[in-house]
Amino acid sequence: MKTKHLNSVITAIILALSFSFLYACNEEDSINELNENSINELNDNLNAQELNDSDKEALLFMLEEEKLARDTYVFLDNLWSINQFANIKNSEQSHMDAVESLLVQYGIDYKILPAGQFTDKTLQDFYDQFISDGSKSAADALQIGATIEDLDIVDLQEYIDATSNTSLIAVFENLKCGSTNHLRAFLKGIENLGDTYTPQFLSVDVYNSIINATNQKCGRV
Ligand code: ZN
Ligand code: ZN
Repeated sequence: MKTKHLNSVITAIILALSFSFLYACNEEDSINELNENSINELNDNLNAQELNDSDKEALLFMLEEEKLARDTYVFLDNLWSINQFANIKNSEQSHMDAVESLLVQYGIDYKILPAGQFTDKTLQDFYDQFISDGSKSAADALQIGATIEDLDIVDLQEYIDATSNTSLIAVFENLKCGSTNHLRAFLKGIENLGDTYTPQFLSVDVYNSIINATNQKCGRV
């Protein structure tokens, strides 16, 4: 009787120990798994945030393209005192600021040249042409405004499509959203003068979908 009882006690103890051991193992496994998942997730985030060379080029180019818009609108605002230029030049400064903050965040060297000067030859040529054409009349100046936004939207979309960096995509989407508002504002000015604008960079389909949409709030910029 005694032996049988003792055996039962020992069996119970062994069972209890086994369960707690198993439980401890499972718990440890799930903790390990959790840590591994968190680390993988963290690595994924860091990897997603890494900038490759074309991301860097995109940021540096867009900083100057936003500057092209700002400098052109400042110039044309001084010349024609048109509301659109007065309002939108400030928005272009905030677009530059948004790109600049990403460059700072990623520790990328950049230079902002004085007004009307650009490192990129194509942008310098655009500026010289826009200033010359926009000086002819207020109507020509508004056409230049629409042209810059038209170009801006196309370039931003290309850079958005080419990257997987979520910070870059978020900022460029905001800038693109702002550009569609600007394009509609310039078009209103053009139509008020009885003129029309023909898209030069955007496809007709995308252009039509933009002009038929209503203005939006565009994130922080
Ligand atoms: Zn802009
Ligand atoms: Zn704009």
